[in-house]
Amino acid sequence: MADKKTCAVIGSGIAGLAAAIRMANRGYAVSVFEANEAVGGKMGQINEQGYRFDTGPSVLTMPAYIDELFLLSQKNPRDYWNYNQLDPVFNYFFNDGTVIQSFHGKEKFAEEVASKTDDDAASIIKFLEGAETKFNITNEVFMQRSLHRPLNYLSMNTLKGILNFGKIEAFTSLNDSNRHRFKDYKTVRIFNRFASYNGSNPYEAPATLGIIPHFEMNMGTYFPEGGIYKIISSLQQLAEEIGVKFKMNTGVDEIIVEGNKAKGIITNEAKIDFDVVISNMDVYNTYHQLIPSAKKPTKTLNQERSSSVIVFYWGIKRKFDELRVHNLFYSDDDSLEYQKLFKEHSIANEATVYVNVTSKKNASDAPEGCENWFVMVNAPHIAGQSWDDLIASTRSNTIDMLNKVLKTDLEPLVDYEKILEPRILEKTGHSAFGSVFGNSSNSKFSAFLRHPNFSSRIKNLFFCGGTVHPGPSIPLSLLSAKIAVEMAD
Ligand SMILES: Cc1cc2nc3c(=O)[nH]c(=O)nc-3n(C[C@H](O)[C@H](O)[C@H](O)COP(=O)(O)OP(=O)(O)OC[C@H]3O[C@@H](n4cnc5c(N)ncnc54)[C@H](O)[C@@H]3O)c2cc1C
Repeated sequence: MADKKTCAVIGSGIAGLAAAIRMANRGYAVSVFEANEAVGGKMGQINEQGYRFDTGPSVLTMPAYIDELFLLSQKNPRDYWNYNQLDPVFNYFFNDGTVIQSFHGKEKFAEEVASKTDDDAASIIKFLEGAETKFNITNEVFMQRSLHRPLNYLSMNTLKGILNFGKIEAFTSLNDSNRHRFKDYKTVRIFNRFASYNGSNPYEAPATLGIIPHFEMNMGTYFPEGGIYKIISSLQQLAEEIGVKFKMNTGVDEIIVEGNKAKGIITNEAKIDFDVVISNMDVYNTYHQLIPSAKKPTKTLNQERSSSVIVFYWGIKRKFDELRVHNLFYSDDDSLEYQKLFKEHSIANEATVYVNVTSKKNASDAPEGCENWFVMVNAPHIAGQSWDDLIASTRSNTIDMLNKVLKTDLEPLVDYEKILEPRILEKTGHSAFGSVFGNSSNSKFSAFLRHPNFSSRIKNLFFCGGTVHPGPSIPLSLLSAKIAVEMAD
């Protein structure tokens, strides 16, 4: 142990766990420092009054990136966690009573949309084929590698990606592209919504984000047995088995930099030397809090922030057969919704609502005859709002909307309640401005303006997680860890 190289990972979000596992596999003695009492960061869980909730992500795509960490460690992933494909995936509810289901596979979803809207199946298939093409072009260029190392541009696949750049629609907004492709506003709504998966505005973000339906609809959406938190507990178990040490309730206060090298960290308890430091903390906070005197990449850090969320975790004393695991209730006017969110930093009175009910698959997540509802509304990042008022009005508007569509009276059915909101994301989630996804992707060049996975000024300092390249979400955060570790060792 004494002559092993050492690595500190700051934060135990999914990318921090992945980076720790990868560095341990490369022979490093790895210590993870986590400010909170539990691992997982945004991927936490609540277990109260007979209800279990995953606190953050609910839509799982590309589970192979998780399995890769077990395989790398010579373990069988199925001894740790398992998952099943969801099909149908979503119920999309509209105010006029239309319910559209999303399915795995282009043809099935195309038939469903064609039977419920004015769009034909061919236009949906063409869109989903285009999403696949975007993936094939960007996977090598944007996702699997650092964008910030010139040598990476020399691979054949990357060069091919660059030559096909026009096909990724970087210079058209997602909304303009969808409006051009589809006749029916419902179809536009369905595909515009994917911009919110990384906290962006479909009226500004490039149509490149039309790649996201490829993950969900073409490649598949999965449900982990036991819920999303099972991923985190399994990764923690794996990390411990291969020797990673965890220091919980141990916030890192400073990264020690001598000359132009990261030399270690200072926690609330000790000053410890390390050969390599990997920060899984929001990159904005890493610069502002842990290396405040270092020169900051201000252009990158000062990009428009992504949106945040308000989540109501509700225990509901009834079962609703019309719901499945994933449900979206669309507002009537998404231009107003995004205008409110990104221009006025507020929430429209009628906002789109996402309801996730894991007890549909994992019966033990709610008491007999009840359901665990994770009810999420997009919210602005923190910008001086009166949050108590905004949360109260959003709660009331959300209940009104769900009552109307589900023809019910929800308030008396709410048996348990907890709320996640931007101030909590900022304080205990350590997310700058309460943004869930770091910078937004509203700029045409956002892919290039995410912070790289290394520091160009401080040697031995690397970055992983949803706020750096290639971006937020479970799969991209996992890729960020892979890229950071490949650079670190
Ligand atoms: C409500 C919600 C819904 C989402 N839905 C989805 C979804 O359906 N699908 C999907 O793929 N993604 C989804 N996401 C996004 C996804 O959760 C994130 O992109 C991903 O989990 C980010 O992981 P991360 O590794 O960047 O770290 P984070 O989860 O942000 O964790 C960072 C960790 O670092 C710790 N930390 C910070 N500062 C310090 C310090 N100084 N010292 C020590 N520790 C520190 C924090 O306490 C935290 O534990 C959702 C997120 C939220 C909040």
